[in-house]
Amino acid sequence: MGLLDQPSGSSAGVDPDAIRIVGAREHNLKNVSLTIPKNRITVFTGVSGSGKSSIVFDTVAVEAQRQLNGTFTWFIRNQLPKYERPLADAIENLTTPVIVDQKPIGGNARSTVGTMSDIFAMIRALFAKHGGPDAAQVNLYSFNDPQGMCTECDGLGKTVRADVDRMLDRTKSLNEGAILLPGYKVGGLEWQMYANSGRVDPDKPLNEYDTREMHEFLHGTDGKVTLSTGSGTYSINYEGLHDRFTRLGVKRDLTNVSDRTRDAIKPFLTEGTCPACGGDRLNPAALATRIGGRNIADWARMQVSDLIEVLAELDDPQTRQLAGTARIALERVAAIGLGYLSLDRATASLSGGEGQRLKLVRHLGTSLTGMTYIFDEPSTGLHPRDVGRLNDLLRALRDKGNTVLVVEHD
Ligand SMILES: [Zn+2]
Repeated sequence: MGLLDQPSGSSAGVDPDAIRIVGAREHNLKNVSLTIPKNRITVFTGVSGSGKSSIVFDTVAVEAQRQLNGTFTWFIRNQLPKYERPLADAIENLTTPVIVDQKPIGGNARSTVGTMSDIFAMIRALFAKHGGPDAAQVNLYSFNDPQGMCTECDGLGKTVRADVDRMLDRTKSLNEGAILLPGYKVGGLEWQMYANSGRVDPDKPLNEYDTREMHEFLHGTDGKVTLSTGSGTYSINYEGLHDRFTRLGVKRDLTNVSDRTRDAIKPFLTEGTCPACGGDRLNPAALATRIGGRNIADWARMQVSDLIEVLAELDDPQTRQLAGTARIALERVAAIGLGYLSLDRATASLSGGEGQRLKLVRHLGTSLTGMTYIFDEPSTGLHPRDVGRLNDLLRALRDKGNTVLVVEHD
């Protein structure tokens, strides 16, 4: 195991500017004692089994997390992962740990490269201040804010719709079981809504319905239908099959519905680009604002490397400052070889290495100092050309007043 960037002659034991570990025995460690200088970059290398992960992750990171968690209230502590005290005689002078690993970022459909890096917030600020013809406040340009989101897709850019073709076997009549949806079996209450409606002939195959009959069947409204149950009859309002299934199976909040029900409905749904916003996620008012002929959705779709050039062209004194901030952030993304990403790219689709480098960029954008950043194999998957740039970013993180620990195999 080798330590780089360590000041020569650092005195172990009493130096408050160093993390001190005495007698570490996690996993294969045999009473290892060492000091790690703060506000430096220390690289831990060595073959597999040399103990670098045991020191950095299982001793330093675990103890720092464990002590940090102890500062929270009991209620919050219960939501956090539990850490056992690592096997060591002493672990001293730790600072707040931030682990930047290659675990996938994941995130829901609302998490994009732009939102997780905070760069989209800068672009929104730019549009709010300098967009034309009418700029509005920043929230209007957020697809995660009710003021900005497309109302048809709630800002997701995609909609789930009932797929009529999958719902029906058009070669059959209602009496023969033309409705394929779960819960609509011949004779059942849902089925009676249509077979008893008087609007269509229950013995006629669906592909013989004329336009009016099909419309009544799928989208009809008004009027009552009498349904029979074992205990009697009752009358309810008619509702066309497509509209009823959309209301009960698609538009309804399905979070409280059982997985089994959801799985049963799924084959009858189809996901597609939102017809209202065309996938732009924002409402027409937000999309009307433009800078340089492009709206904010156009910006989000562009490659980071192209967006840098667009920002560089905004050289009037009014926009220069905001544009400059966004450009610096984008240049960091490009500098670690991610210039091909677009801000609208879903974080769930990023590889572990891409995610790790984006996390690094995000940390560089914060003003927190005095942290211990711990990187797990940050150069994995990097083009040799980009390794030098990665090192520049690690140095920038250190120069902000942080301790940087890097575990590299080889
Ligand atoms: Zn939409």
